[in-house]
Amino acid sequence: MKCALVTGGSRGIGRAICIKLAALGYYVLVNYKSNQEEADNTLSQIKQAGSSGELLQFDVADKIQIQEVLGGWISAHEEKHIEILINNAGIRDDSLMAWMAEEQWDNVLKTNLDSFFYVTRLVLSSMLERKYGRIINVVSLSGLKGLAGQTNYSAAKAGVIGATKALAQEVGRQGITVNALAPGFIKTDMTAELDEKELKAMIPVKRFGLPEEVAHAAAFLASPEAAYITGQVLSINGGLYS
Ligand code: NAP
Repeated sequence: MKCALVTGGSRGIGRAICIKLAALGYYVLVNYKSNQEEADNTLSQIKQAGSSGELLQFDVADKIQIQEVLGGWISAHEEKHIEILINNAGIRDDSLMAWMAEEQWDNVLKTNLDSFFYVTRLVLSSMLERKYGRIINVVSLSGLKGLAGQTNYSAAKAGVIGATKALAQEVGRQGITVNALAPGFIKTDMTAELDEKELKAMIPVKRFGLPEEVAHAAAFLASPEAAYITGQVLSINGGLYS
C-alpha cells in the first residue's frame, strides 16, 4: 500500500497537504503533537476525499518519541511503504536576538531542523530499498532571506534548505527526490495574529496565500512525473521575494 507521512498534519498547511494526497489515492499518516480534535478533523477530511489514513502522535522535537512511535509503526507495518514524506511540522517563537532565551533557540531548532534528521532517517531506508521516494521539506521565506526577530527560525529553515540540497545529491541515483517549499505569508494559525491588511501592501499578488496553494505545489513535487526535479527550493509567496 502506498503511504504518505505528513508531519504537523493536524492543522494549516499540513492538513491541506494531507487532503490533497488523499485525493491522489494515498493512505495518509497524519502526525501531530497535541491537538487531537483537529487531527481527527483532518482524518475525517481524508476519508471525505475518498482515501484513508491514521493518526500518529509524536513530538517531532523529541528523537526518542520519533523512534518509538514512527519507528514502531514502520516495523509493525511492513506491507505499507511510506513513499512520500512531507516534513512540515514547525513552530516559530520570535524575539530579537539580544532578548532571545536559550529555550526559544533550542525549541525552534529542535522542532524545525533536528526533526528533519530524525524523521527522514527512519523513512529513508525503505525508500532506498525500494528505489523510490519523494521527500518534501516545508521551509520558509525566512530561511532564504532572513527575517529580523527570527534568528532562530531563519537559521533552522536555512539549515533544512542546506540539508535538502545535500541529501538530494546523496540519493538521486536511487530514485528519491528531495525538495523544499518556501511559503511566504499563508493563512493559518501561525499567521493569525498578523495584520493581512497592512502586510498585503508589500506582496505583489496583494493577499496572503492559502494552505491549498502550498498543497498544490507539494502534490506536484510528490508526483512520479517530477522525477527530474531535485534539490530545489520552490517559493510560494505571491512574488514577495525571489
Ligand atoms: P500551524 O497552522 O501552526 O500548524 C502547525 C502544525 O504543526 C500543527 O499540525 C501542529 O500540531 C504541528 N506541530 C507543531 N509542533 C509540532 C511538534 N513538535 N511535533 C509534531 N507536530 C507539531 O502552522 P502552518 O502555518 O501550517 O505551518 C506549517 C509549516 O509551514 C511550518 O513548518 C512553518 O514553519 C511553515 N511556514 C508557514 C508559513 C505561514 O505563513 N503559515 C510561512 C512559511 C513557512 P498540533 O495541532 O498538535 O499542535
